[in-house]
Amino acid sequence: MIVGKDVDWTGFELRRARMVTRLRQMGITREEILQAMASVPRHVFVEEALRSRAYDDMSLPLGMGQTISQPYTVAIMTQLLFAKRSIESNQRILEIGTGCGYQTAILQALKIREIYSIERLRPLHERAKQNLRAVRLLAQARLVCGDGYLGLPNEAPFDGIMLTAAPKEVPLALLQQLAVGGRMVLPLDEGGVQFLWVIDKTAKGFQETCVQKALFVPLINDN
Ligand code: SAH
Repeated sequence: MIVGKDVDWTGFELRRARMVTRLRQMGITREEILQAMASVPRHVFVEEALRSRAYDDMSLPLGMGQTISQPYTVAIMTQLLFAKRSIESNQRILEIGTGCGYQTAILQALKIREIYSIERLRPLHERAKQNLRAVRLLAQARLVCGDGYLGLPNEAPFDGIMLTAAPKEVPLALLQQLAVGGRMVLPLDEGGVQFLWVIDKTAKGFQETCVQKALFVPLINDN
């Protein structure tokens, strides 16, 4: 006999497989990233009432005015972060804006050795921990409740820094905490319009590339 829970689970697996097919069609080519997205049960990270939409290509409300990024955004940001180097050579990654922890779970599924993620709202920080524990993807992730503008100077330098909320200017502390050879991916709010940027730190300085339009919640500056 098929019980309700099993039927649901099959439905989610099918929807997740379709999401991955769609991501491929949208230009996500890195196999490791597609595999990570195929392995993480995204529906666990969204509120129960919204679970049926967890695999649609849309952002969803997380509560407290925040959103979980749409699957394509998570995939393209991850692909950009690791575009220049093998994923294995990226040992230490810092994420700003943990939210529900889905992006953190993708980094964990990619087997990044040290993942740090900062969230300023304690209820979301706690929920992300719960979610990551529920899918058994908390092992390498260190979740911090605090101000992402400041980064984590004691843990720097980072091979990659990813912002999932948009500041109006690139936070200086985060540029300083990027390793030489490291890469930052972030949305920047330029007078109400957001663009996704990639910033590479080289021995000679910073190289900045604008990638595409973006839509993120603001990075709140409490300073
Ligand atoms: N990466 C998340 C996206 C969450 S939305 C996911 O996968 O779902 C962005 C998050 O950034 C929100 O939870 C918001 O509270 C948080 N945020 C905004 N300003 C911040 C700041 N200064 N420091 C840390 N987190 C911040």
